[in-house]
Amino acid sequence: MKKTGFIAIIGRPNVGKSTLLNALIGEKLAIVSKKPQTTRNKITGILTKGETQYVFMDTPGMHTPKTKLGDRMVEQTNSAISGVDACILIVEPIAHPGDIELGLIEKIKQSDLPCILAVNKVDRTNPNAIGDTIKAYADIHNFDAVVPMSALKGKGVDILLSEVDNFMMEGQWFFPEDAITDQPERVIVSEIIREKILRTCDEEIPHGTAVVIEEFKESGKLISIRAEIFCEKASHKGIIIGKNGALLKLIGSRAREDIEKFFGTKVFLDLWVKVKENWRNSDVLLNNFGFANKDDE
Ligand code: GDP
Ligand code: MG
Repeated sequence: MKKTGFIAIIGRPNVGKSTLLNALIGEKLAIVSKKPQTTRNKITGILTKGETQYVFMDTPGMHTPKTKLGDRMVEQTNSAISGVDACILIVEPIAHPGDIELGLIEKIKQSDLPCILAVNKVDRTNPNAIGDTIKAYADIHNFDAVVPMSALKGKGVDILLSEVDNFMMEGQWFFPEDAITDQPERVIVSEIIREKILRTCDEEIPHGTAVVIEEFKESGKLISIRAEIFCEKASHKGIIIGKNGALLKLIGSRAREDIEKFFGTKVFLDLWVKVKENWRNSDVLLNNFGFANKDDE
């Protein structure tokens, strides 16, 4: 009998949500970075194992919105929670739940949503801290299961999956057996490019960038991609391009490598940098860049 279910992965920025999704699916679907709030859109990762199809949603972390982009990210987390069969709340191995965790747990209680607590980054801490963390969280909510894990090292991920299994229900699958995401290829490509910008440039600039895929052409064994990187200031453009174009070249070659791995074919990647001031607060530009609006859902 076939089973399926939707699972939201929630938690504060930087806690390891995207890393877990990638560990579960075994592909680089969600971008990972040391800087918080790198995940902007809901990414669906699909895992079909035996008779069961698990559909995971990676969500942007909860935070206080400062820009319209921030508003849309919070809306996405709220809508992710409302449409699923269960959720995984990922927390740091710290025995003091913060405002973000308390807010998420409040939402879970209100919606009566089954929730598995995943204490992540256990590779970085000791058994005492893990035990204290579990105790602190068990005091505020009756979690359906608690799993210590290291998403980065792949430790505990299989146990987490077997706990998730309890919430899968009999029913037809929503996606083909070999599907790993419902995200369009262009979204995957722009996320990969954005990850490389975040990892290659430091400081403030990367958060003010958006990547738009202007062209995506498959011909035989080659995919040709032209992407535009939008930043908020002319000075940022200079920084992203770097001396003699060196930084942009590095971003491009790192991105190309991942895109080739993802599609399993040769890729020609053409990157352009443009300036669009204050795009994060412009509804017109956000729509243009493909960030979901709550009215679209
Ligand atoms: P997200 O914002 O919740 O999606 O977090 P990411 O998945 O982007 O991860 C944020 C950072 O934490 C990255 O630098 C990851 O490599 C790191 N990270 C994620 N999981 C673990 C883990 O289990 N152990 C350690 N040591 N680092 C981790
Ligand atoms: Mg993320």
